[in-house]
Amino acid sequence: METIKQRKRGSLIIISGTTCAGKGTVINKLIERNKNLQLSISYTSRPKREGEIEGKDYYFVTQDEFEKKIKQDDFLEYAKVHYGAYYGTPKKEIENLLAAGKDVILEIDVQGAQQVKDLFPETILIFILAPSMEIVKERIKARGTENSEQIIKRFEKAYREINEINKYNYVVVNDILENAVQKVESILISEKCRVDRIEEIAVENQEEIIHEFLMDKNFDNSTKTII
Ligand code: 5GP
Repeated sequence: METIKQRKRGSLIIISGTTCAGKGTVINKLIERNKNLQLSISYTSRPKREGEIEGKDYYFVTQDEFEKKIKQDDFLEYAKVHYGAYYGTPKKEIENLLAAGKDVILEIDVQGAQQVKDLFPETILIFILAPSMEIVKERIKARGTENSEQIIKRFEKAYREINEINKYNYVVVNDILENAVQKVESILISEKCRVDRIEEIAVENQEEIIHEFLMDKNFDNSTKTII
């Protein structure tokens, strides 16, 4: 008989981070290496970027379609994140994955993280930070997908979000990718050992175990002590 029975339901993990902190890369590595981890695919009303794949990066919908889904209560959380576009986490898919014992990662912003934490206080919240804003600047320049107005908006949001880091349980600086991935893995391993994940403690009858022990023929009698 196993001494403890742990919750079978998967863990809900939020990973947020400032723009260009490399959280996407960290998450891809985590998923590659941990078969029980699953990334939730969000819905968004923002236009698809070159190279993005429907159903892999996002489910791309129009603003009207997104608002219809809000009315249908299809989202666990949603927020207007960049340039007035909606981003939202589908509710049913997450519920099914957690019930099947999968650990689910939501890569969402601070507003969404707050909504999910209010609904499920046991959510694990991790914030990924770039080593410096100077590095963020270089990475945005290298990506070259945004105009200067969009870059300024992203920077403003990054500075706002850094001030909300205290809403999170953990912060990981992504200086060296492998180290950052290992840190997140360690957080997830520790979280699995939390006492509040125990559903039941079941130990065999104490007297029975002692009796069996004393009666064991292979046991050297001379060392038996009377309790
Ligand atoms: P992107 O660069 O893809 O336009 O925007 C990414 C930003 O949107 C990131 O800050 C990411 O965390 C956030 N985001 C992506 N999906 C969701 C979602 O479903 N809900 C919320 N609240 N934020 C999201």
